[in-house]
Amino acid sequence: MSNADIYHEMIIDYSRNPVNYGKLEDHDVTYHDSNPLCGDSIDIDMKIDDNKVSDIKFHGKGCAICMACSSVLTEIAKGKDLDEVKNISKNDVLSELGLENLQAVRIKCALLSLKVLKYALYSYLGKHLEGDQDVDKLKEEAANLY
Ligand SMILES: [Zn+2]
Repeated sequence: MSNADIYHEMIIDYSRNPVNYGKLEDHDVTYHDSNPLCGDSIDIDMKIDDNKVSDIKFHGKGCAICMACSSVLTEIAKGKDLDEVKNISKNDVLSELGLENLQAVRIKCALLSLKVLKYALYSYLGKHLEGDQDVDKLKEEAANLY
């Protein structure tokens, strides 16, 4: 199998059996957003303890790329401290699935969960760290993902 085939298999597999899929009833922050171009719609719930993402789940519906990237992203974020989560880049997610050269129209599918995660994080930080400059930067970054 070529690399492209392996990545394709991974995407199909994640979309059928998403990782970290479900709801966290006992969450500290939750955020929702959608990508109307494709119909992807994702919620992310996070539990935060000692400045770390102690648990994270997502739910919603989306195309295979959206579901695969949400799975990969939640795997990357789980257990990380908030500074590390702040620095997760789109390439961290795209490279896991060989999607670096995705067409512009599908990029929104791939990055929806990252956008939701960044917004969730800044809304958490905004509530817990008043006057923190990082929050505005993070908000801007989340907005610029699209
Ligand atoms: Zn999509």
